[in-house]
Amino acid sequence: MKSLFCFIIALFLLLCGCSREEQYPSNDDFFEKFLLTDLYVNGVSTPALFHPESGTTTPLCSDPLCDHTEKAGCPFAGYYPEREPYYYNGAIWFLSTENGNFSERDLICYDMDNRKVSRIISFSELREMIPDDRKELTRLSYGFGDSYFLYTVLEQDQTPVYQLGVNLNSRKVEVLDNDYRTPLARYGEKTLAYTQELRTTGVSWGIDILGKDGSVMETILPDKRISIAFTDLLPTDKLIYITAAKTENGKYDWGRMTVWLYDMKTREDRVIVNDFPSVYIVSNGNDLYYTRYVDDPPLLGFDQNENKEKYNRSGGILYRMDIRTGKETIAFEMPAYCLYGTQIYHVGQYIVVGYQNKNYDMYTEDITGNGIWYNYQKETGYLVYDTVSTQTATYRKESP
Ligand SMILES: [Zn+2]
Repeated sequence: MKSLFCFIIALFLLLCGCSREEQYPSNDDFFEKFLLTDLYVNGVSTPALFHPESGTTTPLCSDPLCDHTEKAGCPFAGYYPEREPYYYNGAIWFLSTENGNFSERDLICYDMDNRKVSRIISFSELREMIPDDRKELTRLSYGFGDSYFLYTVLEQDQTPVYQLGVNLNSRKVEVLDNDYRTPLARYGEKTLAYTQELRTTGVSWGIDILGKDGSVMETILPDKRISIAFTDLLPTDKLIYITAAKTENGKYDWGRMTVWLYDMKTREDRVIVNDFPSVYIVSNGNDLYYTRYVDDPPLLGFDQNENKEKYNRSGGILYRMDIRTGKETIAFEMPAYCLYGTQIYHVGQYIVVGYQNKNYDMYTEDITGNGIWYNYQKETGYLVYDTVSTQTATYRKESP
């Protein structure tokens, strides 16, 4: 999903499409080769780039003698890359928890050219920037063009009042224009954006189609409650979007999602996966790859927001769906592993899925804002599936 939001808008190209960025790959090109992840070195987690083609993982910290602790003076100590890293002009931007505190996060910038690590801003500092008490924040966190979006602040009725982003050229946090439309996906020269009905869950009623000047040309699917939409890598004029299933009492069940395929030209709209679990989905050309949750051990944790236990027993199965035919097949099955539904990435021709082995006797508990989560102290790593040769390989995250 990393590539969904990561294109450079036309305005950006017009304004500064001349010099500096030509020396650097685009975000999409950079993350066609690498996955930003963490690596355990002597039991310490440090940010690293995983290269699925070779199976090698290289810590961002370039000192081969460093043990990546605060004591050793490692500039990455305590940083743990999270979702939606963004590459822009030679720097990798990512959100990190603050030493494992999941309610606080820092935006980190790593300049690859001079190997400089900078902490740009924390979530609590962001909250301080809001001039009044309307501080209900929606986490956005992704890069797009020359911006990295951090937060939207919502009015009581859930309309956005402040949208905060980082200008990646000046590296300053900016309050964006109130009617700024948060981009979702590209459609030729147009942009697809959340409607102004952005909700706390990052959900939109319908999708606005914006022209080159940013004005709303049309709103499509206005009766649909949409959480994710993307066009990248799909055939021309196709849009995939995901909605929550509607329950009998009219509420939305975010544990049961429906995946739709929409044709922007013919306006044909059809369901391609029903009762899809709320886990990651990744597009790769004409296929979607995903895992499923099953209510069966191992227990991942207790989610207080949903008041229920969450399990993940994918059975080591990665599913593939041909979006043209709607046919679901098993891409691969590795029964000795449990795949993490929330850690599935598309890196070039590879699908990379986080795994753990199936020994669940040893674990630690993480108590966070929304529940208790179990970390199983067993072998973890990546399963790499080559979509071209259909070969699989596994790579452990721990150093030998
Ligand atoms: Zn280090």
